[in-house]
Amino acid sequence: MSYRGALIGCGFFAQNHMHAWADLPGARIVAVCDLDPAKAARFGETFGAQPFTDPAAMLAEIQPDFTDIATTVASHRALVELAASHSRAVICQKPYAETYADGAAMVAACQRASVPLLVHENFRWQLPFRRLKAELDSGIVGRPTFLRLAFRHAFDIYAGQPYLAEVQDLALSDVGLHLFDVARFLCGDVVRITCETRRLNPRVKGEDSFVALLRHADGATSSVECSFFSPVAPDPFPQTLAWLECTDGIMEVDTGYRLRIHRDGQVTESSVEPDVPAWGEKPWHGVQDSVRAFQAHVVAVLDGEAEPQPSGAHNLETLALALAAAKSARSGETQAIARPP
Ligand code: NAD
Repeated sequence: MSYRGALIGCGFFAQNHMHAWADLPGARIVAVCDLDPAKAARFGETFGAQPFTDPAAMLAEIQPDFTDIATTVASHRALVELAASHSRAVICQKPYAETYADGAAMVAACQRASVPLLVHENFRWQLPFRRLKAELDSGIVGRPTFLRLAFRHAFDIYAGQPYLAEVQDLALSDVGLHLFDVARFLCGDVVRITCETRRLNPRVKGEDSFVALLRHADGATSSVECSFFSPVAPDPFPQTLAWLECTDGIMEVDTGYRLRIHRDGQVTESSVEPDVPAWGEKPWHGVQDSVRAFQAHVVAVLDGEAEPQPSGAHNLETLALALAAAKSARSGETQAIARPP
C-alpha cells in the first residue's frame, strides 16, 4: 500500500520533503503545486509528479491521501482549511500559524473534517533528541530537572531563505518554535516563560537572538538559547547542543553529534550522528535525516499505528509559548502560559 500525496510550495526546504518522500516505500507524491509555474514544473519534472499552480484545482482533481504544505506561514491557514476537505491527513510546515486564532482555526478545521493535522516539527525527530527521549523513557537517568538547549551559529541562512531577513521575531519564530517543542518533548508542558531578545546582525530587520527561561509543570527548568550571529569555529550549524540533568544522571549532546551520559561517577560516550542520505549532504544531514524520520511517522499515522507527533493541537501550545516569549521580551515581565480548558 502506497499513499498518494500532494505537495504545496516547491521552494527551498520542500526539496528535502520531496527527496525524503521518494525514499519511503509507503508514500509517493503524485502532484506538486506552486504559484510560480517554473518552480512547479521543475519539481514535477525532477520528481515525476503532475505540476499545478492552483492548490484548489490540484486538490479537487487529485483527492490525495495526504497533503504536505511547505509554503511560508502567511498562506498556511487558507491551505490547511482547503486541504482538510480534500485529504485524509494534512501536514503543515512550521511556524504553522502567525497568530493563536489562526492556529486554533486550523486545528478546528481538521477536527471538523476528522483528519489528523501534523506539524512538520522535525527537530524532535533529529537523532540526538530521539535518543535522549529513548534514554529518558527507559528510566535509566531518572526524571529531568534542568535542560539547556543552545542553537548558536553564524551560518548564512539568508542566502537560501532571503525572506528571513525581514521577519520581526526572527529567532523566536524560525528556530525558537523548534526548540520550545524539543523542551516540551523532553521535559513536558510549560507553565511560565521569561525571555530576552536582541538584534545582533545589522543586515537583518528582526531580532536574531534570544535567551528564554522556561518553568515546566513538574518543576524542571529549561534555558533555551538561540543566536544567528555567533561566529564560532568550527560552526556547529545546524546542530542544537543539549545538556539534560536528571535525578539519576546527566546527558549531553556536544558538537560532532557526541552523546555523553554521566551516571554513578562514570561517563559513556557514543555517536548520535545520522547517516548522510544518498540525496543529502553535510552539514544538512542531521536535518535531512529528521525530515525522513518525520515523514515515515506520517505514514505510520496514516496506517493508524501512531498518533501525530506533534499534532496541530499540541503545537498550538508551542505557538502560545513563542508568542508569550515575544511578549515577555517586549514587556520585561514573566508570562504565565494558560492551559487550555
Ligand atoms: P520558500 O519561499 O523557498 O518556498 C515557499 C514556496 O511556496 C515558494 O515557492 C512560493 O511560491 C510557494 N507558495 C507560497 N504561497 C503559496 C500558495 N498559496 N500556493 C502555492 N504555492 C505557494 O520558503 P522555504 O524556505 O522553503 O520555507 C517554507 C516553509 O518551511 C516556511 O514555513 C519555513 O519556516 C519552513 N522551513 C522549515 C525548516 C525546518 O527545519 N522544519 C527549514 C526551513 C524552512
